[in-house]
Amino acid sequence: MDTRELRTKATQITPDIYSLEIPTPFSVGAVNVYLVKGDKLTLVDVGPKTDEAWQALTEGLQSAGVRVEEIEQIVLTHHHVDHCGQLEKVRQLSGAVTLAHPQAAPYVELDEDFMHFHDQFFLELYQKSGVPSDMLVIIAKFHKLMKTFSEPSRIDVLLKHKQRVPNLEEWQVLYTPGHSQSHLSLYRERDRTMIGGDHIIGHISSNAFIEPPRDRSGARPLTLVQYRTALQMCADMEVERVLAGHGEIVTDHRELILARLQKNWSRTDTLRSLLADGEKTAYELTTLLFPTLYEKELPLTLSETIGHIDLLTILHQVEVKEKDGVLYYHL
Ligand SMILES: [Zn+2]
Ligand SMILES: [Zn+2]
Repeated sequence: MDTRELRTKATQITPDIYSLEIPTPFSVGAVNVYLVKGDKLTLVDVGPKTDEAWQALTEGLQSAGVRVEEIEQIVLTHHHVDHCGQLEKVRQLSGAVTLAHPQAAPYVELDEDFMHFHDQFFLELYQKSGVPSDMLVIIAKFHKLMKTFSEPSRIDVLLKHKQRVPNLEEWQVLYTPGHSQSHLSLYRERDRTMIGGDHIIGHISSNAFIEPPRDRSGARPLTLVQYRTALQMCADMEVERVLAGHGEIVTDHRELILARLQKNWSRTDTLRSLLADGEKTAYELTTLLFPTLYEKELPLTLSETIGHIDLLTILHQVEVKEKDGVLYYHL
């Protein structure tokens, strides 16, 4: 095949794994999609639904000697649109079977009922966190983002922690929640390779996004606590390389994880010092922790703040009181 004209070329990582760099319109930059030539031709993630991403995916596959129509199954690391937006397009063309964690399903389906519950959860959370009412429009923006960069699709096979990936029997599924409640990583013992999605990224620290409770009732998951636990699980494993969802291959996963875990404690120290001069809401703390970023990236920065407040709360280092429906934290 003549591949000289292709702008996006796949990078061969092992005899059976190829990496494809797919552009995204988001600040995170390109997303890495992996092609695994196992018993079935498998894609891990697909990229967002944009023309540029589609072109990169088809060209990248072509350079690896594969047509989109030949893809037989698609595993999603998690439900974020930069990873799964063009799922339906690939599925329609190829008839591929889709596999993901159960928590990915309502997002991938763009289930209207779930989206309503999702909006309601964030409305209450933001109000409790002291977010000014004129900033609450951000909640509707999430919806719009989902609908712009993905389209309703479906998950055929639900994957669970420690099971083997069907038709990719060397690969084990690891449930690694925190960045997202649907987050899976894949691990192959033979060559100690992990496909890490957004769980382990080399050049940026992954965010533990706040999400609504799984069963639509009860308390929200403590996502930063989950994330740290899942990181520790991976630090205990023998891993030669992590094929990350963004950026370069990670070859020093233990050092990286230690640095990430350590960074959490320096951030809790900062929070404690900010609370030393009096009680504050999660929103006020967010504006102080991320003065240049909070307006543009409120869900992300508020998640960071609330996650670290959760850590301090578990350790009984902060206390909280409610006034007129808003939570105020103090030492
Ligand atoms: Zn993500
Ligand atoms: Zn991502």
